[in-house]
Amino acid sequence: EGENPPNNWRSIFGGSAWEKIPGSEYYYLHLFTKEQVDLKPIVDTVFAIVKKAKEAKQEIGEENVVDATIGSLYDEHGKIVAFDSVFSTLKQLPNEVMAAYAGSFTGNPNYREHVYDWVVGDRSALPHSVIATPGGTGAVSITVSETLDEGETLIIPEICWGSYSLMASMDNLKTKSYALFDGDHFNIASLKETCEEVMKTQNKLVIVINDPCHNPTGYSLSQQEWDEVIDYLNECGKKVPVVLLNDIAYIDYSYRGKAARDYIKTFDRISEHVFVVIAFSISKSMTSYGMRCGAAILMAQKEESVREVEIVFEKAARAIWSNVNNAAMENFVTVVTDNKAAYEAEKDEYVDLLKERSDIFTSEADTCGLEYYPYKEGFFVTVKIEDNNVRNAYHEALMKEHIYTVMVNKGIRVAVCSLPVEKCKGLAARMKKILDEVTAA
Ligand code: PLP
Repeated sequence: EGENPPNNWRSIFGGSAWEKIPGSEYYYLHLFTKEQVDLKPIVDTVFAIVKKAKEAKQEIGEENVVDATIGSLYDEHGKIVAFDSVFSTLKQLPNEVMAAYAGSFTGNPNYREHVYDWVVGDRSALPHSVIATPGGTGAVSITVSETLDEGETLIIPEICWGSYSLMASMDNLKTKSYALFDGDHFNIASLKETCEEVMKTQNKLVIVINDPCHNPTGYSLSQQEWDEVIDYLNECGKKVPVVLLNDIAYIDYSYRGKAARDYIKTFDRISEHVFVVIAFSISKSMTSYGMRCGAAILMAQKEESVREVEIVFEKAARAIWSNVNNAAMENFVTVVTDNKAAYEAEKDEYVDLLKERSDIFTSEADTCGLEYYPYKEGFFVTVKIEDNNVRNAYHEALMKEHIYTVMVNKGIRVAVCSLPVEKCKGLAARMKKILDEVTAA
């Protein structure tokens, strides 16, 4: 504590690095952790608001609270959705299967094959491989860690899942953001500018595109937009190697069904200097968030390129998590082979529900003039508040009216994935009124 850390700190602690917490009188001292790590605690904005919403429900009754905070699929009765078609087969797995290690550090061979078929199928003829990972998180994280060297820059969307920048910071990487939208469309110009900027100082590009069903805006690129992206990455590939990290965590909740995977065929046009990693997650697809299973699908024009990345990812997997939940992998295979029709029927019901909820919110928002980022499909709609100071005040004002949401960069996230239909009704108008009051003040 204090303006300056005592001079003798360094001698006492053997020259350990210290850091002032921004906006506070306290210092963190790197004593036991490595020096090249940020000691600021995670500010879990979601958890804190989830707690407030819970308390409000206890205080004034569930019916008087709009809790649009929770980012998992919930049913109309406020319960997390756990597909019968997934968990009935899981419970029938022999104990020995649950007890066993996975068949390999890269995942069970049948899981790897079925993940590829599930996500890509016959849409691509590229050489490929699949590495099982703990969730989509594992797939994104391993890609960030193993494609960039310390000090380099990861390119991410300006509005995005918070873990991308945390992953970068843990690996001592920088991030540079591209603006997501130009009006109602993907901002390809901003992506290009950002890449050009990064190429001035770096001989590689690693770019995150979270598509389809972008978290938290619900945007999905059109085929034409994907064509433009791939054309541009091929151009960049003439100067530097390019890695496209396509995070598809919410793909199975697209309102376009399996057609939402068709853009993957565009990847066949990548040049030899472009590499694609698709980060897949069973958390959302199988309503199995806690089972920690996913995959990194590796695709390139040359077998040698796929092998290069596969070798490094396998070693990283072994070094970091060793192997992935065997029961989750085996059950995924069972569901997509023996229980697929039941699974699709069950999931489609919830996709319809998600559509019903988001239609209510967005159409009412259109009517009352509440601006939101271009939503196409998925778990979240994000109200557009470009000034983060206004957003902060608005978020507080919403809570005063017992509307609980999550703040994201330049917006307020409304989790329609967990908000019952009745609670979606009338919400946009209430939110608009509160916004008008906040901006008038
Ligand atoms: N990507 C996005 C955009 C997400 O929102 C999430 C989870 O919230 C993930 C990836 C990874 O999820 P998991 O690690 O549970 O598969």
